[in-house]
Amino acid sequence: MNTTDQDRKKAWKIQQKQLARDAFPIADGLLESLFDAVDAGVEQSGCDHSLRFTTSWLLERRQPKDKVLSWLREHGGFCDCEVLANAADHWEQSR
Ligand SMILES: [Zn+2]
Repeated sequence: MNTTDQDRKKAWKIQQKQLARDAFPIADGLLESLFDAVDAGVEQSGCDHSLRFTTSWLLERRQPKDKVLSWLREHGGFCDCEVLANAADHWEQSR
């Protein structure tokens, strides 16, 4: 692979990251505290195959619930443990 290809690949990766970040439904810091709260909830009570910890955090913080939930689903977060396993992973890699 020559330098130009590498540069192009790097630029593409940066662009993909930027696009992923632009699609975050709420600020990065808020997502961080959402994932922390869901992590604590699942750790303590386990996942009951719903989004109960996610939803209650969103309601408590008065965040745009539908917008965040649809973003989470888009990235494989259909219940609290999947939010942590899939959506949080996507977020970690894009932030
Ligand atoms: Zn689950």
